[in-house]
Amino acid sequence: MRSKIVAANWKMNLTFGEAESLVDDILDRLDEQDELNCEVIICPPFPYLELLTDFEFDEQRFNVGAQNCSAFDMGAYTGEVSAKMLKSIDVDYCIVGHSERRKYFGESDETLAEKVNRLIENNMSPIFCVGEVLEEREAGRHFEVVKEQLEKGLFHLDGDAIYDTIIAYEPVWAIGTGKTATPEQAQEMHAYIRSLVKERYDQAAADDIRILYGGSCNAQNATELFSQPDVDGGLIGGASLKANDFVSICLQASQIGAE
Ligand code: PEP
Repeated sequence: MRSKIVAANWKMNLTFGEAESLVDDILDRLDEQDELNCEVIICPPFPYLELLTDFEFDEQRFNVGAQNCSAFDMGAYTGEVSAKMLKSIDVDYCIVGHSERRKYFGESDETLAEKVNRLIENNMSPIFCVGEVLEEREAGRHFEVVKEQLEKGLFHLDGDAIYDTIIAYEPVWAIGTGKTATPEQAQEMHAYIRSLVKERYDQAAADDIRILYGGSCNAQNATELFSQPDVDGGLIGGASLKANDFVSICLQASQIGAE
């Protein structure tokens, strides 16, 4: 059975002191639990990664991910951070293709495919985001859009590498809007994504790959969403900035994981 994952995307929020207190609060609350039947990944801004990897080693309660990496390997690319650098400070995961990067930084499917390659070459796991905008859903094009994003950005990977990947379905109209996909909408798209993985790879890869839901997932709707058979947890933005809410989401995933 696939274990659930709850991943926090802190985006460009928090000062260093605030990040430190948030992680302290999260750990205090997690420490009240004997066992957690889900994986937790925290993706802070770059300057706080080492703070988090230090906590990770001391506490072993969560893994650490970056929110972005360069499509290049190393060299004269001012302002970029490579997958190799991330791996050298024990970061094992990295979000790729978040809709905010596609929209505000013009990241193309081709660039995203290169980022995925750099991560796989450095033994890291991409958390590859896909999702349609509202007009595409209203036009009934959401399946087509997600299929194209996967085919261009992820499905060039060979059979082994796909096992190191996590997919996040994040309908753009649900991100930061308070408008969550219904559990039925999420399940329908997740089942479709799993069927695409089966078609491109095989049944074993489809059974193994974790597909997270993201988009206004919070402490009030997590159980409903995570109970869907093809929803393997969540990528959490706003609600990951509040220790109580984030830990509540983790505990809901854990509860379902234990059933
Ligand atoms: C996200 O940006 O990945 C996200 C899911 O944000 P929010 O939870 O705030 O909608």
